[in-house]
Amino acid sequence: MSTYREEQRESQELVIRYLREASAVERAQLKRMCKAYREFRAAIHDFQRRHLHAICTLSCFQSNLSACCNKDGVITFFADLVVNALFSPPHALHHLMQGLNTVRDDIKCIYLGANGCRWHIKPLVCEMFLCDRALEGMKAADPQAVAAWQRLEAEAKRFRWPDRPVLFDLIESRFLAAGLCSPLMYLHNSPGLMRIKRKAGLAWSVRAGSPGGHWQLLQVSIDTDGWIPTQTASSSSSLRPDVADSVRTTFLAAGPR
Ligand code: SF4
Repeated sequence: MSTYREEQRESQELVIRYLREASAVERAQLKRMCKAYREFRAAIHDFQRRHLHAICTLSCFQSNLSACCNKDGVITFFADLVVNALFSPPHALHHLMQGLNTVRDDIKCIYLGANGCRWHIKPLVCEMFLCDRALEGMKAADPQAVAAWQRLEAEAKRFRWPDRPVLFDLIESRFLAAGLCSPLMYLHNSPGLMRIKRKAGLAWSVRAGSPGGHWQLLQVSIDTDGWIPTQTASSSSSLRPDVADSVRTTFLAAGPR
């Protein structure tokens, strides 16, 4: 089994197990965090239905494939896994895990099944992928649609590009705070993304640090690159106001453990 497949399998298992054992309150909180993102994904679907359905061939949307499915090692963010597991019916998760546990050499993407993608909610990278032919077709049919698509691309960044507090980062932080870790937590382990966070003054995370299991807010020192404790959650007001707001309204809503 390749390292990529193994990482995907272990991370999917970790997320599914965690959510299965999480309280109803916690699951509801996570779902609330994803509300704007779900609305965004619905807008993408609507756009694809209106502007791409006629262009994309049977090998793409109609068979539930996206044009990127022939590439090796699609990038999946940890938050992609969480969103999918949160909103998938149990049989869909079973189907997804079955695929990951079955090594096949005749297909490129490890998530591709006989009926297309096994994700209930595809990774964002896949959802936003447009091949050149689709882009050209869209441009010819409706030049204004291209500008609309570019607006959606910019909007997609608001969920995963950490030059501001973003959902994908907050989800990772929440799982880190619960003591879980995955190589797919790129918002916390990619040097490039960490650099963007530091530049924006956002290189912080939350961990369940104290022996009593209380939430502890940690911040990356921009000067030293080291993790330095700054304050506990209850006194997070000295953070930049928008960051403190995000902390309060998302993962700290769960309160001390
Ligand atoms: S995850 Fe799904 S949509 Fe993305 S490349 Fe793989 S099969 Fe295609």
